Amino acid sequence: MDRGLTNNDMLAIGLTGGIGSGKTQVSDHFAELGVPIIDTDIIARERVAPGQPALADIATAFGRDILTPEGHLNRRALRQLIFDQPDKRRQLEEILHPRIRAEVRSRLRTLATPWCIIVIPLLLESTQQDLVQRILLVDAPAELQLSRTMLRDNVEADEVRKIMASQASRQSRLDLADDVIVNEGSLEQLWQEVEKMYQFYNHLASSCQNH
Ligand code: ATP
Repeated sequence: MDRGLTNNDMLAIGLTGGIGSGKTQVSDHFAELGVPIIDTDIIARERVAPGQPALADIATAFGRDILTPEGHLNRRALRQLIFDQPDKRRQLEEILHPRIRAEVRSRLRTLATPWCIIVIPLLLESTQQDLVQRILLVDAPAELQLSRTMLRDNVEADEVRKIMASQASRQSRLDLADDVIVNEGSLEQLWQEVEKMYQFYNHLASSCQNH
């Protein structure tokens, strides 16, 4: 896949995958191996903290009911509001995405490593693909996504199924990914896959730099 470079020598790998596929496990293991991780979910949460301009814009767009009495973002209310209203989802993305992109770009400028991971859960559903040069997909069978998420979040199957249905299909993710880690075994097997990918990206980044 041919995408523009985000800064001079940095190879930015976009890590993505559906709900409960194992992105956090994978990015945590890359971090243990010393790879810098930029997590757009964490950046998004920081941008909507009380006092941040993005939170004020969200309250203006969706009404003050989207805030808790203490002035925090009511995530559940927001999720419900945008869930089946694509225009509202787009409005939210217009508020958040430029801010997230600016923050990702500024963090990339501070890194001195040959490559890094940018976690973008909805990379394939969004317009953020130009932030990365390669897409690494964490792929898991739907039944495992479902059972792992139910166990982790203590939620009903229907709730998870609804979220899965709103995300890109497994096949369309596989079609767009450059690299795939299949997460259908044990955590130890997953870490071995991460380590293989780590070696591969080390080679790739050094061969990019030599050209
Ligand atoms: P989300 O998009 O919902 O944030 P995620 O893609 O980050 O999810 P994780 O949180 O990494 O997914 O994994 C979901 C749950 O499944 C976690 O509780 C995690 O510990 C567990 N899990 C992931 N992979 C495995 C595995 N191979 N074996 C056992 N448990 C696993």
